[in-house]
Amino acid sequence: MPRKLVVGNWKMNGSLAANEALLGAIHAQLGAGSAAVSVAVAPPLVYVPQVSQWLAAHGSALALAVQDVSNQSVGAYTGDVAAVMAAEFGVTYAIVGHSERRKYQAEDDARIAQKAVAAQAAGLTAIVCLGETLEQRDAGAALQVVHAQLAAVLKHVDLDLTRLVVAYEPVWAIGTGRTATPEQAQEIHAAIRAQLRAQSPQAAEQTPLLYGGSMNAGNAAELLAQADIDGGLIGGAALKAPDFMAIVQAAE
Ligand code: PEP
Repeated sequence: MPRKLVVGNWKMNGSLAANEALLGAIHAQLGAGSAAVSVAVAPPLVYVPQVSQWLAAHGSALALAVQDVSNQSVGAYTGDVAAVMAAEFGVTYAIVGHSERRKYQAEDDARIAQKAVAAQAAGLTAIVCLGETLEQRDAGAALQVVHAQLAAVLKHVDLDLTRLVVAYEPVWAIGTGRTATPEQAQEIHAAIRAQLRAQSPQAAEQTPLLYGGSMNAGNAAELLAQADIDGGLIGGAALKAPDFMAIVQAAE
């Protein structure tokens, strides 16, 4: 896969009709896709069959992602969905460790590492989200926090570095309209790349490192111009096709 990747995280938004309209508008602009950038959307889980069928019916270049997966593969885990189940619907990526799940579902680093491994075991690529809170940044601890979050995933013996994407999403920038400056984001991305390099120099060069946090059509080009920013994990701006596609174009 190319190192460049743009993923639209629809979060808990959409409806059958709205999804169809959004997919149609993205597909109209994306066409046959781009060799340089992979593009994916992550609808709410209940809409995965709808989006999967729509993409297949239209021969779309868009890939499909899920916003979360279970750390388990089967069994009595009410409400959970296993990565193998998502894989049956042509899902390529599984986002794990999004800060909204860390916050509202109390997911910790160990659970997130298990989810990344479970996603990979089902043949998916895990998009692992990392990021510091505003208090942690103000305390000068951003680099240490992100390092520790990534270390918790990398120490898992079963982790496959060739099917890993890392998304740096400062919590204070998600859905707030406040974006990290390109320099702030690049500093963290370079540190993430160095941490990956220490584990596998070869894999580190291939691993897409995404920035997420109020990325939009206006600020994407500057962020994506940074050496270690390979793409974006997009929330709000992913719900409007022109904005989302402007970010995809900026990544090309
Ligand atoms: C996200 O939820 O991953 C995200 C980056 O959201 P937003 O773009 O709305 O800040």
